[in-house]
Amino acid sequence: MYDVVIVGGGPAGSTCARTLVAGGARVAVIDRAEFPRVKLCAGWLSPGIWDVLGISPRTYPRGLWEWNTAHVHYRGADFAIPCHGYFIRRYELDDYLLRTSGAELHLGTQAKAIERVDGKWRVGGEGGLAGTYLVGAGGTHCPVARMLAPERPRRAVGVQELELQTDAAAVARARKGRDGEPELLLFDDVGGYGWNVPKSDWINVGCGTLDATEVREAWQKTHEHLQHHARTLPSEAEPELAHMKGHSYFLFEPAHLGRAEHDGALLCGDALGLAHPITAEGILPATLSGKLAAQAILDGAPASYPARLRAHETIADYRRVHRLLQAAQAVKRRLPGGRGRSTGLGRRAVAHGFAWMFSGARLPAPRLLDVVLGR
Ligand SMILES: Cc1cc2nc3c(=O)[nH]c(=O)nc-3n(C[C@H](O)[C@H](O)[C@H](O)COP(=O)(O)OP(=O)(O)OC[C@H]3O[C@@H](n4cnc5c(N)ncnc54)[C@H](O)[C@@H]3O)c2cc1C
Repeated sequence: MYDVVIVGGGPAGSTCARTLVAGGARVAVIDRAEFPRVKLCAGWLSPGIWDVLGISPRTYPRGLWEWNTAHVHYRGADFAIPCHGYFIRRYELDDYLLRTSGAELHLGTQAKAIERVDGKWRVGGEGGLAGTYLVGAGGTHCPVARMLAPERPRRAVGVQELELQTDAAAVARARKGRDGEPELLLFDDVGGYGWNVPKSDWINVGCGTLDATEVREAWQKTHEHLQHHARTLPSEAEPELAHMKGHSYFLFEPAHLGRAEHDGALLCGDALGLAHPITAEGILPATLSGKLAAQAILDGAPASYPARLRAHETIADYRRVHRLLQAAQAVKRRLPGGRGRSTGLGRRAVAHGFAWMFSGARLPAPRLLDVVLGR
């Protein structure tokens, strides 16, 4: 019998567990994988994550790359943009966060048969784990999310990616700037982007598209771009690049928050669909939502969790970005031919805006934006 049973030990589940345990709760985390486990991810972190985790980057004991320049390519132009962020290796971050959370871990255990029995949540049938509260942090296909069925107004984004370890000289040949500096290829319609992230003797290449059906073609474009600009990827990567598997997850929509809590069951991270509406950054909102869910539970007010999410400055910014996107799309639809002209200034603004969002900068003049966009 636990205070809280958490399904999923990724960043959302482990941060929720860490906060709950620190607040004195008895917590079990169930994950179908053994950790460390592979989680496809570029490993991109915006600086705000360290505050959410309550960890200093200086004391994080696994691989960490801090960068201060993003290399952005957009509509034939290249920009080296000063901005700031970090990269990690994902299997290391998730393992570290989960193992230091202080929760009781049930790894290699698939969560099935989730029921409400005698006012408690029970996972795994009779003899399974029971808790006063249940947290669904099992990612895009989380079984708790299937049960609570949050609204999904838009289809999931499509993502393809390959990360592999090779020799450092091969990674250096494939990169555009210094070690750890990301290269981003923004697609012409800004409906997605490709990336090349060098992490010493690891390379991570991939792409994502708003329309999941376009992801294969987008990867061809990214691959061709890298080859065309004489950035030879390590030879052992080539066969694997031809067979990369697609993945999907949901970007933030305000409607998702409506089912964030129901009857003592709370959804966090990808299970709720919280990734940034443009960059698709998902680790920061996963950890943030895990923390806010835990705080609502510790305060004995789980039903306040959706309101806490809405009120948080990061999620409030996501809502504004979502509104701005909708407004931009409406303008684009009204333009003849459905697209605007691309000027040098316009290209620069898009490239800088994108890099700026990637470094997790807050939107300027949020109150003014609320007035203009409507709350
Ligand atoms: C290719 C790719 C690249 C990405 N790159 C970035 C990036 O660079 N930066 C960034 O911020 N975001 C990135 N994202 C998004 C980011 O990975 C996710 O938003 C983030 O992992 C969400 O964390 P989470 O804890 O909600 O879910 P997850 O990390 O998916 O964790 C869910 C956990 O639940 C477990 N689980 C699932 N079902 C069950 C079950 N039935 N029983 C028990 N356990 C279960 C899984 O094993 C998993 O460990 C990327 C996503 C993809 C697909």
